[in-house]
Amino acid sequence: MDLAAECHQIIAKIRNDKRGCKMRFLLIHRFKFILIVIAAAAMLSSCSPQENEGLMQVHFIDVGQGDATLIVSPDGKTMLIDAGDNSAGDTVVSYLRRHGIKSIDILVGTHPDSDHIGGLDTVIDSFETAEFYMPRKSHTTNTFMDVLSAAKRKGLSIKEAKAGVLISIGNDVKGRFLNPRSSYSDDNNLWSAVVRLEYADKSFLFMGDAVVQNELEIMGAAEKIDSDLIKLGHHGSSTSTSEDFIKSVSPDVAVISSKQNNSYGHPHKETLELLKEQSILLYRTDEQGSIVFYCDGKKIWTDKKPGTYNYYKEGN
Ligand SMILES: [Zn+2]
Repeated sequence: MDLAAECHQIIAKIRNDKRGCKMRFLLIHRFKFILIVIAAAAMLSSCSPQENEGLMQVHFIDVGQGDATLIVSPDGKTMLIDAGDNSAGDTVVSYLRRHGIKSIDILVGTHPDSDHIGGLDTVIDSFETAEFYMPRKSHTTNTFMDVLSAAKRKGLSIKEAKAGVLISIGNDVKGRFLNPRSSYSDDNNLWSAVVRLEYADKSFLFMGDAVVQNELEIMGAAEKIDSDLIKLGHHGSSTSTSEDFIKSVSPDVAVISSKQNNSYGHPHKETLELLKEQSILLYRTDEQGSIVFYCDGKKIWTDKKPGTYNYYKEGN
């Protein structure tokens, strides 16, 4: 029976019921519950960024194999974490423009790998940017040099992303970098900027490509890591997302940014099985394209249904 039919039947029962107040109370209570469900469904189906001023928005932009995450605070301030690879720069710029973004308040390049910073030069050339954070890790690639050149062209100095640095996106969203915590080898992933954001009762953890060693260090430093939503490290690779870490974060929702049938086999079977075991809802750009979450400080929701825990067969 659909909801409208059920509502109709409940109203009829309330009118006809001769068994006294208690039954009437229970029916009215059920009727109210259904109305709330209908209102929530209507709210979800009507959500679009333009219509959601006053809400925090977290956009996982589909950039194929790579990361690009846009955060908009309830008062309209913006943060962009990564911008996909070189070919994704235009995709990110047009996504931001389509969503009414005029400037970037905080830009983060999590680490020098091309699938994260490749599109940053195009973004820097296209938007006025107030603050730009990257970890203190250089790289010899043209991609990395292009980012430095774009920042220089715009007179944009690079602030160091490292554990303990505090940020604010507008008045209501507060953040803290949890990584990098020291100097590492030449493995760029180890240098990944990790950032945790809070908005009222809700929290968000963005892992970049941080790996298990980083997770252990973050837990060892007794950082606050419990979060309602986590962007998993390294595209769902088994080199990130250890069981202890995900249990400590204890998220309701996990997001993986990767490309369909990518050559790395991301996300890996081990990660997917762990999420399934822990009953963590999973959203993934390889299955669902760009995904937007909304938050009013008490709840987090999206108009997309959760993705699957399916992994790619070896050799794909
Ligand atoms: Zn990556």
